[in-house]
Amino acid sequence: MNTPSTPLTQPDASAPEILGYSHENRPILLYQFGHGPKKLLLLGGVHGNEVEGFHCSEKLLELISRGHAAVPAEVTLYLCPRLNPDGCASLRRTNHRNVDLNRNMPTQNWTASFTHVPYYPGSTPGSEPETQALMKTIEKLSPQAIVSLHSYEKAMVNFDGAQSEALAVAMSKKNNLPPKGDIGYPTPGSLGNYAAHERKIPTVTLEILRGQKLDDVWAQHYEGLLESLQWLAKN
Ligand SMILES: [Zn+2]
Repeated sequence: MNTPSTPLTQPDASAPEILGYSHENRPILLYQFGHGPKKLLLLGGVHGNEVEGFHCSEKLLELISRGHAAVPAEVTLYLCPRLNPDGCASLRRTNHRNVDLNRNMPTQNWTASFTHVPYYPGSTPGSEPETQALMKTIEKLSPQAIVSLHSYEKAMVNFDGAQSEALAVAMSKKNNLPPKGDIGYPTPGSLGNYAAHERKIPTVTLEILRGQKLDDVWAQHYEGLLESLQWLAKN
């Protein structure tokens, strides 16, 4: 992409907040940009083998930190580039205790049963420090929208519930992926269930095409990610 050489805005110089620590003692970081009343929580690296997702969260962090993209005045962006820093460090879906963090949220449909080892939901709902950091953050911020960056063989802008569809459609117009309300299999204990279905927060799980070159990933997705900020500013 071409980025302007002159910064558009003065980036916030604030240091990231530490939301908690992983089992391997890596900090889970949250960066804040902007001061608007509407809050967008953007997550990367929930699944550490989905490098396409946390590549985008880190590129977005770089873009905004350097002042090459602006957060609208109405919005505050809270960006957690790697919710699962241990998994990202070892390119593993699960956290250090082999728990799938997107099956560990304490939802009404959480279940201890699972079909495949990489989908192990943990011994109890909300058992993991990464999950607890996310729960605490959602409770503290009460964000108006959440975007979580993943990757999958079937790329899509996955949304949970009717309240999330408009955000998914807005992003899909920029990244040319289909907005879909159903990923095709049940996801008990997922963020979508926790945030969208149970808390009515518009929530999009962006499933980037798995295995794409990372430069191509960013070229395809940066406009859609910036569009999520614009969408929230207008809605
Ligand atoms: Zn994922």
